[in-house]
Order: sequence, then structure tokens, then C-alpha cells
Amino acid sequence: MGTISIFNQTSNVVFTLLSLFLLFCASIYASKGTKLGKGIWLLYWGLVLEFVTIYIGKHSSDIFSHGGGIEGWVFVELLLNLISMILLAMAASQILVNGVPDLPVIGGFGALGLVAIIYFLFISPDGEMVSNMRQIFPLTGFAYISVSFLSQWRNKHHGGFVFAGIVSLSVAFVMVLKLFGNEYFLMSAWYVPACTYVLLSIALIMMKGDFYAKKLDESQLEIERYNKRIEEIIKSSPFPIIISRLSDDRIILANNNAIKLFGIRQEELERYRLKDFFADSENRRLLNERLEQEREVQDFEVLVTTPSSNTPFWLLTSANVIDYNYDVALYAAFQDITSRKNREVLLKNQAIRDPLTSLFNRRYFEDEVYKRILESKTANEPFSVLMIDADHFKNVNDTYGHKTGDKVLIELASTCERALRDVDIVARYGGEEFVIFLAGVNAQKGKTVADRLRETISEIVVHSDEGDEVRFTVSIGVSSNEISDNIDTLIKAADEALYKAKETGRNRVVVFNKEDMEAFDNRETQERIKNEANNRHPIFDKEENEEISLLDGIEAQHIQSDTPKIEDGGSDESGLLLGVDEEDLK
Ligand code: GH3
Ligand code: MG
Ligand code: MG
Repeated sequence: MGTISIFNQTSNVVFTLLSLFLLFCASIYASKGTKLGKGIWLLYWGLVLEFVTIYIGKHSSDIFSHGGGIEGWVFVELLLNLISMILLAMAASQILVNGVPDLPVIGGFGALGLVAIIYFLFISPDGEMVSNMRQIFPLTGFAYISVSFLSQWRNKHHGGFVFAGIVSLSVAFVMVLKLFGNEYFLMSAWYVPACTYVLLSIALIMMKGDFYAKKLDESQLEIERYNKRIEEIIKSSPFPIIISRLSDDRIILANNNAIKLFGIRQEELERYRLKDFFADSENRRLLNERLEQEREVQDFEVLVTTPSSNTPFWLLTSANVIDYNYDVALYAAFQDITSRKNREVLLKNQAIRDPLTSLFNRRYFEDEVYKRILESKTANEPFSVLMIDADHFKNVNDTYGHKTGDKVLIELASTCERALRDVDIVARYGGEEFVIFLAGVNAQKGKTVADRLRETISEIVVHSDEGDEVRFTVSIGVSSNEISDNIDTLIKAADEALYKAKETGRNRVVVFNKEDMEAFDNRETQERIKNEANNRHPIFDKEENEEISLLDGIEAQHIQSDTPKIEDGGSDESGLLLGVDEEDLK
């Protein structure tokens, strides 16, 4: 492409070398981090060699003008020209795509060129052919490379390539003009190489931009493919699956199973946030906390409510934090475990509740009250224990039958529960005996509560199968934290007071006072000595008695009966029993 006129002036040489250096820098920039490196460097060194041939051409013409022999120099010049052509062609096949000769073809043409050089220079010297070869070799190289660049126009991001193609095509055109003997381009256009280097530098920088744009496209495509894959997996899953955005909790994807389960419509999906379905917000907070720590949570139980059903149900969920649709999202798969949960509740209830009255059983009462006493002690609050026994209950059974007796017990139990606060604990202690723990209530207020409870119970009317009205009363013994903070002692003391209530006429409340404690202690000691003498623990006596009273005269079906817990109609969180308010009790 060059003209030897570059070397006529130092400023031209400097300018051309500077532009070559610019191309060097642009090549470093464009080849870093891209797949174009090899092609770019082949192009660069091809151009450098081509530039060297211009210098050799100038040198040999100087020698020639002084009458010296120049075959050697011309040979080197043509050889480098040929190599330059091969490098440009290799660059073309690297950058390129289709349609440009492959390496064996380039090698074949190279060999042919070498034969032509040797033939026309040494074997049958032909000045015109030699001069033509000087133009043809670079012309071929630039023609290759321009086709290679221009063929990229079909790609979406092709600005840099097409620009480089136009530049190299223009150089090839200049060479054609030179081949046909254009004087101007042969002798004076010193700036052609410099302009080519500068324009190619610009093209290389543009190519890097193209490369990044293409990469961005590819990664967007990859993300789209990934999203599609996730959607397919979700849609074909037999489990309900939901994807929600982490930033605002909005649901962005749900499969049909999830839509059915949550009772929502596909078109209004985005109106919902995942937390809308959590019956318990604390549950949601806990899930989020675990996800923040581990990004993945397995087998997390969630109580769920939906817009279409008011009854909450249990789901088991596995949740992961994922990237979805350029967002950080939560992937949650669900499994309906309501029936399992119900079974669990049933089993737990069977273990802690009495089947006839659905009240807590004695074991649960003792375990729970043990904890509640510790809490009360820490909070320095009083508490009372009430022991209740139905009066002459045997008569009820005997007169109206066991079925009616059972009805009476159920009614008695539900009255106790309704009359007391949720914080109090009511349990069936055995047979027709009930026990109650009143939190925050001292002995005096405990008696008030017991008396009102007794009165309320005395107003209960149960109808026998024959339609008879059955009324009954209870006696109540009260003990409190003034006596002891040991649950066994408290129960025994309340039992003792109950015994007194029975003795003194029934249908009454007796409080076990501090003064009763001494006599009680003495009797306890005597009993223990007697039991030790018999080598028996008092507990055995008690268990045996209760076993008898619990089963005595009752058909097996009562024991196994699965009567559901009577729904609390009147228990009140804040108020205490039967109009006795909190203030009244303190
Ligand atoms: P009092 O307590 O007033 O001294 O007299 P009582 O008749 O209630 O005395 P006792 O404790 O000896 O009798 C309790 C009776 O309760 C004996 C038993 O047949 C009956 N009983 C115990 N458990 C049940 C039950 O689950 N259902 C029925 N129908 N009766 C029961
Ligand atoms: Mg009894
Ligand atoms: Mg009784």
C-alpha cells in the first residue's frame, strides 16, 4: 500500500511510525479479553512486515540509482511481501467466518508466490513481473482481509468489522490503482499507510465494543433460556411451586398446582405477596431469617390462609433464594401436610387430654403447673390450686345411669373451662375430680373464684335420656402459694381442704390455710412412717385408688371415646371467672 515517498521526509516517517504505534496499542486493547486476539496480532505483524518492505524498496531503489546490483534486496522485499500477504490471509481466516480460503489453501498460494519470485527474479528475470508482484502480494492480503471483515455485516453487532472492511477495501483499491500505474499513488501518497493504521486502530476499538455488545446479548439469551427452563420445571412439577421477588415479596410465577392450592387466579398473581398467605407473620419472619443465613430452607412448616378459605391449613415448604428474571427471588415448593398435622395434633391431644371431657389430663397438668409455678415465682406472683369433686356422684350414676353421669362430667368440665381465663389450667384429675391452676390469684381471691364456680355449677341442669332434669353440686378445696410452691404438696393440701368440705356438708369451698399446715405435716409424716413400714410408697396407694375410681362401673367405650373438645364459648382472656374482674381478684 505504501509509497517510498514516506522516507523523503523525517516528519512523514515519524508520523507513520506513531500511527503504527497507535495501531499496536489498539491491538493490545482489542485483543485483551476477547476471542479476536490471534487474528488481530496476525493482522498487526502482517502490516508491520508490509511497512518494512516499503523501507527495503526505498533502500534498493537508492542502491539502484547508484548503479548497484539489487537482486538480493528485491528478493528479500518480495519474500517479506509474500509473508505479509500470508499473515494477512491467516488473520482473515482467524477473524473470519465463511468464504475465505483456509490455511492449506493459503500455504499453497504462498508456495506458488515463492516459486514466482524465484522464477521471475533469478531464472528468467522479468522487471515488469517483479514490479507487479510488489503490488499483487499486498493487494491479495488486503483483499482477503477486507472480505473477511465485511462478511461480518450479517452479525448483529458489526460496526467495527464493517469499518475495518471498508478501510482494507480502500487500501486494496489504492493498490489496484498502483498496479495500473497510477503515478500519484505510486510516488506521492506517503500518508496512505499512516491513515490506514489510524483508521484500523479506530476499527479495532469499535470491534471491542461489538464484542461486548455480543457478549451481553449472549448472556441475556442465556438468562432467558434459564428462565424458560425454570418455568418449564415449575409447570411440570407435581408440587405447588411459587416464585416471589425478594425485594417486594410479590409473586411473579406460580404453577397450576400452586394456583389451585392458594385459590387464586393466574391473571391476578402479581397482586399477591407471599406473606399474604402466611397465617402467622412470625412464621414468615422466621423463614426469612433462616433464608438470609442459609439461602436454602428445607421442610419448613407454614400455616397458610388463602383468600378463598378461612380455615388455615398446614404446608411443608422447601425454599431457595435464586436469580430469576434479573431479580433475586424466592423459589418455594409446597406440600399439603394438613392431614399429617391433624394427626399429630390428635396424637398429642390423646397424650395430654382426657378423652371424655377433652380437658387436660393429670400428667399434663402436673408438668405444666410445675413450669407455671417457676414462672410465677420469678415474677413474684401468687397462684392457687382448686380441687373439685362432684358431690354424691355415685347417686347420679345409680339413679340416671352412667351415660347421664358422663353427660354431667362433660357439662361440669366445659363450665369450668368457660368460666375461667385462658391462662388458667383446668384438668380432669381422675373420676369425678377436677383440678384447676389459677395464675396470679392468691388464696383469698382463689376462694372467691371457687365459690362463684361452685354456684354456677349448682345451676347446671343436665337431661337424662328419660328426660329427667339432673342437678348436682361440687365441693372445692383451695390451696395457694402461701402454703407451698411444690405441686404435690399443693394438690395434697387442696385435697385435704376438699375432704373437709365434704365432711362439713358438701357444696362448699374450704381453703387450706397456713395453720392447717402443721397438722397436715404431722399426718403426712405419720403416713410416710406407716407406708415405709409396709415398704410402700404413698403414690401407689393413690394411683390404685384413682385407677379404681376412674374405671369403676364405666363401659370401655367411655374410656376410648373420642369426644371432641367442647368449643370454648365464654372464656375470656382478660376477665376472670364469672364477672370477677382482675381488680377484684388482686
Ligand atoms: P362424694 O364425693 O360426695 O363423697 O360422693 P361420691 O359418690 O361422688 O363418691 P365417690 O368418689 O366414692 O364416687 C365417685 C363415683 O364417680 C364412682 C364412679 O362410679 C363415678 N365415676 C368415676 N369416673 C366416672 C366416669 O367417667 N363416668 C361416670 N359416669 N362415672 C364415673
Ligand atoms: Mg371422688
Ligand atoms: Mg364425689
